[in-house]
Amino acid sequence: KLQTQKWHILMKAHCGTGSSVFVNRSLAMEKIKCFGFDMDYTLAVYKSPEYESLGFDLTVERLVSIGYPQELLNFVYDPSFPTRGLVFDAMYGNLLKVDAYGNILVCVHGFNFLRGPDIRELYPNKFIQRGDTDRFYILNTLFNLPETYLFACLVDFFSNCSRYTSCDAGFKDGDLFMSYKSMFQDVRDSVDWVHLKGSLKEKTVENLEKYVVKDPKLPLLLSRMNEVAKVFLATNSDYKYTEVSRQFTPGTPHRPWKSYFDLILVDARKPVFFGEGTVLRQVDTTTGRLKIGTYTGPLQHGIVYSGGSSDIVCDLLGAKGKDIIYIGDHIFGDILKSKKRQGWRTFLVIPELAQELHVWTDKSSIFEELQSLEYFHNELSGMSLCPFQKVTHDMDMCYGMTGSLFRSGSRQTLFASQVMRYADLYAASFINLLYYPFSYLFRAAHVQVRFTHTSQFVSVTCTFSVPPGFLFLRLLRPKIDGESCKNFFLYSCIEFS
Ligand SMILES: [Mg+2]
Repeated sequence: KLQTQKWHILMKAHCGTGSSVFVNRSLAMEKIKCFGFDMDYTLAVYKSPEYESLGFDLTVERLVSIGYPQELLNFVYDPSFPTRGLVFDAMYGNLLKVDAYGNILVCVHGFNFLRGPDIRELYPNKFIQRGDTDRFYILNTLFNLPETYLFACLVDFFSNCSRYTSCDAGFKDGDLFMSYKSMFQDVRDSVDWVHLKGSLKEKTVENLEKYVVKDPKLPLLLSRMNEVAKVFLATNSDYKYTEVSRQFTPGTPHRPWKSYFDLILVDARKPVFFGEGTVLRQVDTTTGRLKIGTYTGPLQHGIVYSGGSSDIVCDLLGAKGKDIIYIGDHIFGDILKSKKRQGWRTFLVIPELAQELHVWTDKSSIFEELQSLEYFHNELSGMSLCPFQKVTHDMDMCYGMTGSLFRSGSRQTLFASQVMRYADLYAASFINLLYYPFSYLFRAAHVQVRFTHTSQFVSVTCTFSVPPGFLFLRLLRPKIDGESCKNFFLYSCIEFS
């Protein structure tokens, strides 16, 4: 009984804070037989904005070394500009914030935020076909933050530099034409070069204190997990880097880092890993080289594997999809694919959540104002959009120049809808699991919507709690006989207040 009370106090203390775990679908922890981990930005957490700033500087240096103007070296990374999940349009050089369907919420050219009519001129219906992956690139990961800001810097620089003339699809310098597409490709290639061949890893290892978060709670949580389930690591990094990363992941002087894992798998090549996968090989841990041939033996402690697939992991660990919870920070590579292709339970790490929650509580008056404006806007069709747009803008600015990761005004971003759809649990850090017992049932907010359709009146009963970071108003707006139900907003406002 004392133990239960202790957990209760601990969970209550962290409820609704950056230490909470949020739930989209109910999950009974006692049914979990395996905890799977991603490495970068999950187990190995980088300090922000120091690490992004390093990545930014090295990418700029690389661009200059391949022929870009020296002036670029004056760029300084500004963490208040980029938001994760923006889309780069390689045709017009714009950064776009979109919803799940491709509707444009925000459009910025360099540092110039475009207004509605200008956006419509470039994008009919303020809409993009985001499936056109040759043109639209989603900057999905935390590793993409430096290049998000770099795209804005480059477009701004070339637009304002007298040597260059701006065109629809790029810039002209005499007989030379540099399209946004070629600029995009150069930046992407430079980022990959910095990560794979450049000095990013070296500099990180040289200055771990500056770039890496060392959480003393990590070994404690992993050893607790070890007691109740199997623990494995599936990372896209190679063995050498994984071995280096151990310096900033678990491990104590008394316990080597590898001993926390029943299975260590490097070069996983996610998202391919969650489908057909690649050949499973054994890593020679003394030389770091791969042994030839495919590994066919049973699971052995201390062996490091390279490649493989999620099916192989299930076989080696003797587990089925629902027995496994995979913890990662990549909404597409870690979460969407493991859920969609394998039915694994998922835990998304969203480091930005701590800041988002802070704004959510700090600026609650703006959220309330927006909700009441939404209600009046829907009730009074002649009402001007101006106050609504102003409050939306004020709200977006509370988060940074490109707004919240989850929304623009009350409209959800693509990222937010993917989180809701594919992440069973999500939190600012997986360390938050330490505040819940392993017998805990994470229960999703109860959503119960009942419609009683009479000739003129629609009755809606709606009981649920709203997790911070989301507004459900538009999501649940029903249509009755093809007509939007205006009364719904009235009901939802009452319920929320
Ligand atoms: Mg990662």
